[in-house]
This record gives sequence, structure tokens and C-alpha cells, in this order.
Amino acid sequence: MKIEFTSHFLAQKKRYNFCFTCDDCLYFDIRRDQCLHEYPNEMHLLSTYNSDVSPPYILFCKQFELR
Ligand code: SF4
Repeated sequence: MKIEFTSHFLAQKKRYNFCFTCDDCLYFDIRRDQCLHEYPNEMHLLSTYNSDVSPPYILFCKQFELR
């Protein structure tokens, strides 16, 4: 699912401690910084959304499983 990246989303994410990136996913291999399913995950990494240059949209992974 793809939605627009907005300051409203960021505020809600902080308020509810919303987890949606690989960094909090059960299938994330922290040592390799890769998805265990070998999905391309650049747009699912927390660093993508915490960078100084915000991406235009958020791409949610359907396989996300909270760790
Ligand atoms: S399943 Fe999706 S959210 Fe989980 S590590 Fe792989 S790409 Fe990231």
C-alpha cells in the first residue's frame, strides 16, 4: 500500500509509536540490513523516513510482522 508522506502522518506515527518498517519486522535480518524474504526493502527502512529529505510517499509492506 502506498500513501502520501505527510507531516500529519509523522505526528500520528510519533503519537502512537506506530511501527511499519523493516526495522521492527520479524523478517528483518539486522546483520545484513536485508529482508529474510529477499524483498527489495529500501522503501521499507526506517532510515528512509527519518532522513533529512522526506520521500514523497510511504510504501507499506504487506508481509510486515511486528517483532
Ligand atoms: S517482510 Fe517487508 S517489512 Fe518485513 S523485512 Fe521484509 S520487506 Fe521489510
